[in-house]
Amino acid sequence: MSSASSLAQVVAALERRYPPSTAEEWDAVGLVCGDPAAEVRRVLWAVDPVEEVVDEAIAADVDLVITHHPLFLTGVHSVASTTAKGRIVHRLISSGIALYCAHTNADVADPGVSDALAAALGVTATRPVVAAEAGPVGLGRIGELPQSMTLADFADVVATALPPTRHGVRVAGDVARTVRRVAVCGGSGDSLLAPATAQGADVLVTADLKHHRALEHLEDGGCAIIDVAHWASEWPWLDQAARLLAEDLSAEGTTVESVVSARPTDPWAMTLRGEL
Ligand SMILES: [Zn+2]
Repeated sequence: MSSASSLAQVVAALERRYPPSTAEEWDAVGLVCGDPAAEVRRVLWAVDPVEEVVDEAIAADVDLVITHHPLFLTGVHSVASTTAKGRIVHRLISSGIALYCAHTNADVADPGVSDALAAALGVTATRPVVAAEAGPVGLGRIGELPQSMTLADFADVVATALPPTRHGVRVAGDVARTVRRVAVCGGSGDSLLAPATAQGADVLVTADLKHHRALEHLEDGGCAIIDVAHWASEWPWLDQAARLLAEDLSAEGTTVESVVSARPTDPWAMTLRGEL
């Protein structure tokens, strides 16, 4: 008979998959609020720890919210409910809900954020775009599609595989070119433009690309680019991580039930296009 997990057990299982020591130095991962002795029956997984996600957590009657993005990245001297982040802390604690974040430590893990994105797009036989020197696997993944297709057709695959967003899917490069070797990076992956090209990628799928970076990369003969919503690029990780947590806890004889938030938390509300 399996029993409910304690928050301490859940945190220990998460930190075996995503050791905090593998997070970037500037990052702030781990337990934000919650009592390690408390029981965790239900978990809500989300990309961003924002107010709407707290609403969802309270409505879903969960004991823990696990997000990819941290709530605080810089030091704070107040969590008064007069600020948005302070309100989030207040509402979580007064509802008995813990908050845990796994960010860049989930990016470099194997399997991690980019493995989930690659799998969602049908990219297999993946290896890191930038391998880590020790410990974790590294940033981004590069692999192959089961068959060659045009960049335009692959953009359709991306748009269908990822959840819809107002941001949509933007494509840079010759849409008629053939693609087979695909690099992916969940979140802001413009630092991988050159390494992906150097590894022979036909296209890099990532988020948050800027005008000059993208233009100069293409002018230098770099790979094509598919720019998706930041939220959508990291969303496939939630389901992957929820499955791994359930497996890890079940091996210890405890259980948790997971709910994955499908609410896009990108800031963009509309995309308008003029006629070209
Ligand atoms: Zn991100």
